[in-house]
Amino acid sequence: MSGIKKIFFDFFSQHSYVGNAVYSLPYAMAFKTTHYCWNNCPHCCESAGANMPKNYIPSAIIENYINQAIKDPNFSKNLVFTGGEIMSAYKYHDESNYAKKLLNMGLGNKCSVDIKTDAGWVFTPMRDAIFSDLVDVLSTHSTSSFRLIPMQVSLSLDRFHPHAMQKNIEFITEMSRRQKNSSLVINISSFKQDADMFEIMLDTLRKRYKNVHEMELFGSPSTEHMQKNLSNTVWSVNRNIVLKFSTGTLFDGGRARNIENAYHTPTPQFSFLAPGNPPHVLMAFDSFGNVTLGENSGKKITVPWRDKNGTPRTLNDIRQDLIIQAGKEEARYRFNECNRLVAESIKNNIKNVLNLFRVKKR
Ligand code: SF4
Repeated sequence: MSGIKKIFFDFFSQHSYVGNAVYSLPYAMAFKTTHYCWNNCPHCCESAGANMPKNYIPSAIIENYINQAIKDPNFSKNLVFTGGEIMSAYKYHDESNYAKKLLNMGLGNKCSVDIKTDAGWVFTPMRDAIFSDLVDVLSTHSTSSFRLIPMQVSLSLDRFHPHAMQKNIEFITEMSRRQKNSSLVINISSFKQDADMFEIMLDTLRKRYKNVHEMELFGSPSTEHMQKNLSNTVWSVNRNIVLKFSTGTLFDGGRARNIENAYHTPTPQFSFLAPGNPPHVLMAFDSFGNVTLGENSGKKITVPWRDKNGTPRTLNDIRQDLIIQAGKEEARYRFNECNRLVAESIKNNIKNVLNLFRVKKR
C-alpha cells in the first residue's frame, strides 16, 4: 500500500463511521455474474436486459475470490450468485455447467449459497441441463444426517417479471419430482403490493400436492443458515421442498426510476448491509469489473476488481479501497450537509433581520 493510501486507510478505517463499518463488520459476497438477461423488466434496478453484452465472470475468477475470502476471518461465508440472468450462461457462455460449478465451490467451502434466477429457462430446451445440475449439487452435498443443504434458490413473483407465476410453479413441480435425497429451500421474493400472488400460487400448489402446509419454526435453529433463512413461517410443499416468502421495497434505481411510487433511494447510498446477526456488509462483484457495496440504487460506493491491464486485483486491495471510498463518501456527505445547514442558517438570519426592519418601519 502506498504511503498516502495507508494514511487514508488508517484514518477512515478508524474515524469514519461508514468506513469503520466496512472495515470491521463481517462481509458477504455477491457475484452478479452477467448483465445479460432475456427479460427487460421495467423495474430492473440493474438495468439488465437482452441488449446487454453476453459476458460472464469466469468461474475461475470467482473461485479465486472465494478462496481468498475463506482465509479471511471477516468473511461471513455467505455467497449470492445472481445476474442479470445467471442461467443464460447455459446458452451463451463458453463454460459448461456454470451454475453447478459455482454452487459446488460455495458449498464445498462450507458457505451458504443463494442463487437467484428468473426461471424463464424452465420452458426452454435448457431446462434439462439446468435441472440436472441443480439436483446433482443437492445430492453431492447431502448427507444422511443433514438433509437440509445450506443452499437457497431465489425466484421472483411480482407483476413485473413476465409469467412469473407459471415459471415458479413449473420450477417447484419439477424440482420436487426430480430430487428426492435432500430438501431445498426456495425463496419467493415479491413486493408488498403483489403479496397476494403468493397466496394464489399456494392454492395452485395445494391442488397439486395434498401436503402443502404452513410451519411456524420454533426452538433454536442449529445453523447460521437456518437462523438466517428459516426464522419465520415457511411452507412445506412435500418432503423435499420448503418455500419461504419475502417482500421487499421497490427502489428507484436502474429502469425502476421510471416506475411511479418507486421508493427514492437516498444519495449517497450508505445502506449496504445485508440482514443477519450480526449484519453483513454486502460486497457485489459485477460483470463490468466493479465491486459495489450493497445491491440497490443511489450513488454507490464502487471500486474496480480489475486493474488497468484487466488482471483481477487481490481481495485485500479491493477491501482497502472500499473502506477508503466509503470514508471519502461519508466525509463528502457530511461536508455537504454542513454547507447546507450553514446556508440555511444564514438565510434564516437574513429573514429575521428583514422582519425586524419591517416591524420598525410600521
Ligand atoms: S429484474 Fe431480473 S429478470 Fe428482470 S430484467 Fe432484471 S435481471 Fe432480468
